[in-house]
Formats: sequence, structure tokens, C-alpha cells
Amino acid sequence: MRSPAAPGAFSEPPKKSLGQNFLHERGVVDRIVLAVNPQPGDRLVEIGPGQGAMTFPLLKRHGALTAIEFDRDLLEPLTLQAAAHGELELIHANVLDVDFTALAGDAPIRLVGNLPYNLSSPILFHALDHAAVVTDMHFMLQKEVVERMASGPGSKVYGRLSVMLQAYCEVTMLFVVGPGAFRPPPKVDSAVVRLKPRPADTVGIDDPRRFSDIVRAAFGQRRKTLRNALSTLMDSDAITAAGIDPQLRAEQLAVVDFVRLANHPVTT
Ligand code: SAM
Repeated sequence: MRSPAAPGAFSEPPKKSLGQNFLHERGVVDRIVLAVNPQPGDRLVEIGPGQGAMTFPLLKRHGALTAIEFDRDLLEPLTLQAAAHGELELIHANVLDVDFTALAGDAPIRLVGNLPYNLSSPILFHALDHAAVVTDMHFMLQKEVVERMASGPGSKVYGRLSVMLQAYCEVTMLFVVGPGAFRPPPKVDSAVVRLKPRPADTVGIDDPRRFSDIVRAAFGQRRKTLRNALSTLMDSDAITAAGIDPQLRAEQLAVVDFVRLANHPVTT
């Protein structure tokens, strides 16, 4: 039996089901804070504060922070320990249920987080849905996922995630972090990435739903030519009319090519 924890101590063991790999290397936390570089007036929102590895240094530096944590057991110790560092607004919720647009109100937010790796993609797509109110995002993710996010045509890992994110954001891989920086150590390397949503009027996508459908279909069968992979969405003549060779495969197209395909008028 475990002995009772001191008030305010984090007493529960990390929960694998919630992707709890807690950062403990101070040097890595410092690099993240430096990369975020909070400025007066910024509204920081942290996803998954855990035991506060990033929360407390960010609070100390910035004075205030909103954090969204799903694990009830972490709420009390987070609140008690945060008091010494600054003003923490803690939201107990599944981040996927949090409406960032409502949270932002009339002031944009900056997202930060060492994300639960099992939910990386859903969280990224959820944040994209609210890109209009997000100034930037700094996330720790599996290195392999960051490589996919940042890769370009011709790369083996270029795919739906790369195109969807790069269409809406500038994606920059910042630095790699080894497993030893976490407790317990994950099985894989991690990396910190910066995403900066592009201003809405520069994205150039007429219909986001159609864009998403085209990208999904094109990479759904990535070894097929566009002519075959997109057959239910556009015919070969339409692909050609959009200025793209229907014999190409998805992995050969740049993000702007997908935008051209999606913006091509649909004929019925
Ligand atoms: N930020 C802390 C750190 O760097 O040590 C913790 C990072 S840990 C990789 C991921 C955190 O996200 C955990 O605290 C976990 O409880 C939380 N989490 C997992 N799923 C979540 C969800 N759906 N919504 C909000 N938080 C979640």
C-alpha cells in the first residue's frame, strides 16, 4: 500500500492510457519556453499540463496561463503548486471537447503542449478547426509524426497530415528530444514543432470540406495515379483542366497542386 501523499504532491503513478510521459529534463523545458517566448498580453493555453513541467516555468515567466487537463487526479496538486508561480486557470476537460474559439473570445490564443501521443492527430485537426483564433502552437510530439507534418513531395513520409497542416500553417520542426527526458521514457524519439496558422485570406482554399476530401482520397490509395484515386471526386478531364497530370501520384504533388484540384469547379 502506498503511504498517504503530502498535500499538494503528485501521488498517482503515470497513466499510460492518458499518454502520461512527464518531462523532467530542465534543459528541454527551458528550450521550449525560449521557443514560445511569451510576450506581454499573450494568452497562453497549455494542453495536458500533467505535473506542471512546462506549466510552472511558463507561469513564472508569463504570470498567467490557462491549462486543459483531463486527469482529475492532477488537478489539485497542479492548482496548489501553481499558486507560487502565477495565475493558473485550470480547465478539467477532454481537450477535444474544448471550443478554442469560445475560449479565445476576442483575443487570440497561443497553444502549447507536450501532447498525449495517442491523440496527436485528433488534437492537431481540432486545433486546425479553430486556426482563426490561434496565433501559433508549440507542441512536443513523436519525432516520426513531426517528420510527417513537415515533409514535402517526394519524401516517403509525405502524406495527408503534411498537406492538411501545411495548407493552413507554416510548419517548423524545432528540435529533437530523446526518450530519457521523460518519465517513464517513451519508446520513441520526440520533437518540438512550431505551427503558425496562415492568415485566412492567404490560404486560398475555396471549400475546406472538398479540399479535405480530395487530399484524403488521393493519399488513401497513394500508389495509384490521381486518375484512379480521385475517380469518385473528379474525372481525368477535370484533373487535367486544373493543370495537373492525372497520371501523377499524390506523393508527387505540392500543397498548391492540391489546392488547385480542390478549387476546380465541380461539374454535375
Ligand atoms: N505537460 C506535461 C509534461 O510535459 O510533463 C504532461 C505531458 S503528458 C505527455 C500528456 C498530458 O496530457 C497528461 O497530463 C495527460 O493526462 C493529458 N491528457 C491526456 N489526454 C488528454 C485529453 N484528452 N485532454 C486533455 N488532457 C489530456
